[in-house]
Amino acid sequence: MKQQFPPSGECASCKGQCCRTSAGAYLPEDLRDLSVTAVKNMVLAGKASIGVWEHPDETIQPWTSRWMLYLRPAHKGMEGQAYDPSWGGACVHHTETGCALSFEDRPSQCRALEPGCGCKQHLEMREVVEAWLPRQNLLKLVKKVSG
Ligand code: SF4
Ligand code: SF4
Repeated sequence: MKQQFPPSGECASCKGQCCRTSAGAYLPEDLRDLSVTAVKNMVLAGKASIGVWEHPDETIQPWTSRWMLYLRPAHKGMEGQAYDPSWGGACVHHTETGCALSFEDRPSQCRALEPGCGCKQHLEMREVVEAWLPRQNLLKLVKKVSG
C-alpha cells in the first residue's frame, strides 16, 4: 500500500484546489464490491464515472488498446454518466468544508496526494491504469449496461 497523507492545514487554506481540478482515481482494491451491479449502482447514483487514460508504455499488451478505463468519482455536472472521457472538473464529493467522504473511503489517489509545496502525487496514473488492466472487461460492461 502506498504511503497515505491525511489533509493538512495547507489543505484547509487552499480549500481543495486538487478536488476542484479533478477527482482522484480509485484503485480496484478501494471498492468493497467489484461486481458489475455494485459499480453500476455507484455510477447511476452519481458517485462514480469511468475515465480513460492512455498507457504511456507502447510495449504494453500491443494486441489491445493502450486506452485504459479506470474508475473515479464523478465530476460535478456529469453525475449519472457512466463514461466520462473528459479530463478535469470538480469532484462530486467536494464541498465548501472539504471532502464529504471519510479519509478511509476516499480513492487511493486522493489518499496518496501529499500536501505541501506543489502537492506531490505518490500514485501516478500509470500505476492506476496498470491496476485496472485486469478489470477492463468489468468497466466495459458497466459502461455498456449503464447507458
Ligand atoms: S492536497 Fe494540495 S491542492 Fe489538495 S487540498 Fe491539500 S494543499 Fe490543496
Ligand atoms: S474524493 Fe474527496 S479528496 Fe478525492 S477528489 Fe473527491 S473531494 Fe477530493
